[in-house]
Amino acid sequence: MKLTFLGTGTSTGVPSIACNCETCASDDPRDKRLRVSVLIEHAGQTVIVDTSTDFRQQALKIGLKHLDAVLVTHCHADHIFGLDDIRPLNFRHGALGLYANERAWVDIRRIFKYVFEPTHFGGGLPQIVPHTVMPGATFCLGRDFEVTPLEVIHGRLPVIAYRFNYFAYATDLSEIPPATIEGLRGLQVLVLDCLRIRPHQTHLWLERALEYVTELRPRRTFFTHITHDIKHERDSKLLPEGVEWAYDGLVVTD
Ligand SMILES: [Zn+2]
Ligand SMILES: [Zn+2]
Ligand SMILES: [Zn+2]
Repeated sequence: MKLTFLGTGTSTGVPSIACNCETCASDDPRDKRLRVSVLIEHAGQTVIVDTSTDFRQQALKIGLKHLDAVLVTHCHADHIFGLDDIRPLNFRHGALGLYANERAWVDIRRIFKYVFEPTHFGGGLPQIVPHTVMPGATFCLGRDFEVTPLEVIHGRLPVIAYRFNYFAYATDLSEIPPATIEGLRGLQVLVLDCLRIRPHQTHLWLERALEYVTELRPRRTFFTHITHDIKHERDSKLLPEGVEWAYDGLVVTD
């Protein structure tokens, strides 16, 4: 399995507009963070988690030629606003499976109303094959490629984390319910929300994120959805062995 970080930044991206802080002014490419998304390649399948605000730029950067599915965590703008940019892939390969929970589907149909309105037909619309996911209901995207949606809590909003065999991607959460804790055991790679060092109402921060790492004991952990409070080089010293700040372009294999 191969996981590529397409974006590791919080909702504003880093650098943040109009900010001159040490991170935003940094020359280190690891301090430049597009909005969060990962690409997973396994068993001949290529899937993406979320179509971020920066999806077009991310797809061009890695030379993306094909996608088999898009998995949605939730419908905050930073995670879904790139959806219209799947159209060039539709033009080449046809409709694309879009996996989301029931709550996210309500938002997708509202935000992208035009996609579902036949009156708009002919304007080059995203072509989507809708699939509804449910926490704990595993499905296969190919031979030996199991995907398990798991529920995590983002402030008050239930959000979907995804487990891919022995990898898992869990962003935008402040709490992991007991059933999901069980679903995240025995991982090779855990990608986990960790916004910054200071506490936050709807995201994990360093201390809370490290508590979950201690409880879940994945072989390797990568923190994502990072704000400009974190400077990669300087703040890597804060992390124990086996835990790293993710950065855009980082590739992790098993
Ligand atoms: Zn987010
Ligand atoms: Zn800044
Ligand atoms: Zn969010």
